Amino acid sequence: MHTAAAATAAPGFTLTRQQAVVAALHAVLPPRCVLSAAEDTRPYECDGLAAYRQLPMIVTLPDTEDQVLAILRVCREMNVPIVPRGAGTGLSGGALPIADGVVLSTARLNRIVRVDAYARIAVVQPGVRNLAISEAAAPHALYYAPDPSSQIACSIGGNVAENSGGVHCLKYGLTVHNVLRVRVATLDGEIIELGGEALDSPGLDLLAVFIGSEGMLGIVTEVTVKLIPRPATARVIMASFGDVVTGGNAVANVIAAGIIPAGLEMMDQTSSRMVEPFVKAGYDTDAAAILLCEADGTHEEVAEEIARMTAVLEGAGAIAIAVSSTEAERLKFWSGRKNAFPAAGRISPDYYCMDGTIPRKKLAEVLTGIAAMETTHGLRCANVFHAGDGNLHPLILFDANQPGEFARAEAFGADILALCVAVGGTITGEHGVGMEKINSMCVQFTRAELDAFFAVKRAFDPHGLLNPDKAIPTLNRCAEFGRMHVTAGRLPFANLPRF
Ligand SMILES: Cc1cc2nc3c(=O)[nH]c(=O)nc-3n(C[C@H](O)[C@H](O)[C@H](O)COP(=O)(O)OP(=O)(O)OC[C@H]3O[C@@H](n4cnc5c(N)ncnc54)[C@H](O)[C@@H]3O)c2cc1C
Repeated sequence: MHTAAAATAAPGFTLTRQQAVVAALHAVLPPRCVLSAAEDTRPYECDGLAAYRQLPMIVTLPDTEDQVLAILRVCREMNVPIVPRGAGTGLSGGALPIADGVVLSTARLNRIVRVDAYARIAVVQPGVRNLAISEAAAPHALYYAPDPSSQIACSIGGNVAENSGGVHCLKYGLTVHNVLRVRVATLDGEIIELGGEALDSPGLDLLAVFIGSEGMLGIVTEVTVKLIPRPATARVIMASFGDVVTGGNAVANVIAAGIIPAGLEMMDQTSSRMVEPFVKAGYDTDAAAILLCEADGTHEEVAEEIARMTAVLEGAGAIAIAVSSTEAERLKFWSGRKNAFPAAGRISPDYYCMDGTIPRKKLAEVLTGIAAMETTHGLRCANVFHAGDGNLHPLILFDANQPGEFARAEAFGADILALCVAVGGTITGEHGVGMEKINSMCVQFTRAELDAFFAVKRAFDPHGLLNPDKAIPTLNRCAEFGRMHVTAGRLPFANLPRF
């Protein structure tokens, strides 16, 4: 995440056009559901990637699914692009407005429809916060497993659109593994249901296609999630390492030993030093890297797994090991990890959070590569990440007030993603492509693959109005970025529709 204030792009619409669309929306929505004055739409000009800003033409705040359909109909008839928005915590610019477009916020669709403890499911509207689902399920000793660090604020609709992960997704799976059904409003004005309340549903697995589609295929209006029993207990090991290579290899060793910890996270020294004065979690700030490895289950299971993980970590070269002995201590160990992003603000005016995924066995190699890039780009980088999933979150530290530093941070980030691809990984783990990584898509995918992605988009959104120009780059864009082969000045299919 970048926290510097950047200039907001000028409005990209005429007053007449805005007035016409507002009038059409007022015909189908109460006035309080339509915002068009700049002072009202300003809070929607960016998501968590605040470096990219754009004032939208209009913001809509529907109260009901019927109103969502009505907004989509108006936009389709008037050819207005639509940007869905949940809580706006996304880190890749997925909810960044389009200048002549409508932001469709799900903030008011925030009802927990039902919690069925017998079926172990919850049915919720898209604007419900991630953590609120577990809070609603708590009286039944159940919870919703995927736990992004932003879970206090982010919405389940945004989680579905980004296929969000979190500390406990190594053992319990990502959003895609924990959502049974979504209800979707399509641009054609239909409500479709993908998946069902059973563990499998007939036909093509369009639920998996939809989850992670970044608001480009339809508007989620309801989600059915799995709930699982809260484990009887959990304990976490904090292991210190003298260098990041040994720490990275220890991660691979834990998994190779046949253990799937409930969480397996790594923080390098820059991260532990930035966070420790802030949260006082008891981190070993002399260590080059620390690993947090959690076991959960019955008391016997946890005791056994802690013993096995301790042996593997010691064998892998850990120089110190501490194990939480109480629930308060476990939460203290995690508090530093969970607060790492905000703590970055203590040591740097701005930071840029990258998100790439690599095969676990490449962790040491990639961390070494990132350290070398710090010198090349002249910027520091803190690494705090979901090590067990191979999901990196390098935080590139910079000062936007220094001329050229943000451009250097962007170049640094692009180089990290290219390295992830080069070692057999991918350019995103959980934050999505959005606007931020659209050029990196040209690095990872071939023309044929990008065309296949567009084909899926066209099947759901033939008009190309849902979150256009995000997530999938046009061939023209890749050509400009220098990653698409152009023959004799001609690019096949260069004039693909706007999306
Ligand atoms: C401090 C911090 C920590 C974070 N930690 C994590 C983490 O551990 N793991 C992780 O995965 N992410 C993390 N994130 C990123 C972010 O919280 C997630 O991507 C989250 O899922 C976004 O949810 P949101 O409701 O804020 O969505 P938004 O940011 O509003 O939107 C995200 C995308 O979803 C689309 N969208 C939103 N609602 C709908 C809908 N109803 N229908 C269709 N499309 C929709 C938008 O168009 C956009 O493309 C973190 C962010 C912050 C700021």
